[in-house]
Amino acid sequence: MPSFQHLIDGRMVDAADGGWRDVHEPATGQVYARCADGNAADVERAVAAAAAAAPDWGRRPAGERAALLRRMADLVEQRLDAFAAAESRDSGKPVALARNVDIPRAVANLRFFAAAIETWDGASHAMPGQAINVTLRQPLGVAACISPWNLPLYLFTWKIAPALACGNAVVAKPSEITPCTATMLAEVALEAGLPAGVFNVVHGEGPAVGAPLVAHPQVKAVSFTGSTRTGAAIAAATAAQFKKVSLEMGGKNPAIVFADADLSDANLDTIVRSGFANQGEICLCGSRLLVQRSIYEDFRERYLTRVKALRVGDPEAAESDLGALVSKPHFDKVVACIERARSEGGTVLCGGQAVQLEGRCAEGWFVAPTVIESLPADCATNQEEIFGPVVTLMPFEDEADALALANGTGYGLAASLWTRDIDRAQRMASALEFGIVWINCWMLRDLRTPFGGVKQSGVGREGGVEALRFFTEAKNVCIAV
Ligand code: NAD
Repeated sequence: MPSFQHLIDGRMVDAADGGWRDVHEPATGQVYARCADGNAADVERAVAAAAAAAPDWGRRPAGERAALLRRMADLVEQRLDAFAAAESRDSGKPVALARNVDIPRAVANLRFFAAAIETWDGASHAMPGQAINVTLRQPLGVAACISPWNLPLYLFTWKIAPALACGNAVVAKPSEITPCTATMLAEVALEAGLPAGVFNVVHGEGPAVGAPLVAHPQVKAVSFTGSTRTGAAIAAATAAQFKKVSLEMGGKNPAIVFADADLSDANLDTIVRSGFANQGEICLCGSRLLVQRSIYEDFRERYLTRVKALRVGDPEAAESDLGALVSKPHFDKVVACIERARSEGGTVLCGGQAVQLEGRCAEGWFVAPTVIESLPADCATNQEEIFGPVVTLMPFEDEADALALANGTGYGLAASLWTRDIDRAQRMASALEFGIVWINCWMLRDLRTPFGGVKQSGVGREGGVEALRFFTEAKNVCIAV
């Protein structure tokens, strides 16, 4: 059985107290590996190693750091199939998705921030006859990177790459539910020749590892992606130490379809994907589908035909559109949310139950893609994040109605809008209370753009120079002339 160890100070090591936790394969429900079960003592060792390594790493030329990130990217890319298979096994997502999206994106993250740090312009401001101001962007020292289970390597590298590129040493904590590819990346970092202590990975549960990590006085910044509840705990735990925090949290995203939208087959496929990709376990998934009343019935029929055609199956099978949900507790939560929707008066139009597969996946955690209508906007189903393959359909009358429904939750991560009317698109885009608005597309990502949410979906932005700014401290040097 595979064992996933920590990476601390340039060595793969067991937990300080020798503890292990079980790692499950969601498609089979069986334990397939074990993972070091870290605690505060492991965090202490990792932070000490990072603090010792940070000054030298931060002084190295950007090109040298970039070259090491590129070497890591090359090694991941060379092992694309192994990484994709591991990600699929660990998280339940279809292997094709891991192969086409998760792992290539992890490679792109490493390469993107290698290039970004080499091309990042400094700032200077002249005061003619008096002085010139030069703004230095200096590394922070030790940065904590904490990631969730839904896009394990994709989101892990999205944090680690800019943190390292900027010259910080990193203590990273992947989700305890999906520790596999973070461990493989740790091995890649060793092979690539990253100096000891520059990149550390500590496994374990949030309260045991994440909490002491964010509270550690030598950790200067925390980059977190996960639930709003954990984000709030991190904000509270770090506030009194005035740490930099970037929090990417939950969502209840709307997809808004106007009667004038181009509902070509390709666009309908994208709208379906926006609800059900990765079993709906993407923070950007549109879980509230708002459709203008004049086309509601026609749209519903075409949409349902497509959703019913989605195949739930073994993540290893090329034809599976949806794999398994990530864990038994999450599976139970999603099934309970569907029951709650029924009790709130919702009509289940398709799905609505667990899927029982045969053979090796008989004990797996599968849920049918589920579409529900006839629910009020303010019910729990339409207000709380479910994070599974569950979409609600709601009709709206006009632009004002659509806007009120879209903005009418505590979240504000991403909205997608489908219309041919450019004036309407612009009006809606400026009035939608979201960090990301997609018009006639979904999850089209340029890594240079700011990424993040408003309201309970987030604080701060990742991506491009936003990430470089986050992982550095600006110091203005004013030189008299
Ligand atoms: P989670 O909050 O349970 O866990 C996220 C990470 O935080 C894990 O590594 C966990 O161990 C750690 N953690 C838990 N308690 C902690 C504590 N007290 N201190 C420090 N770290 C702690 O989230 P999850 O269930 O792994 O992920 C799903 C959530 O992530 C969903 O809400 C989803 O919307 C969100 N998400 C958001 C984005 C985004 O970009 N906004 C992207 C992906 C997922």
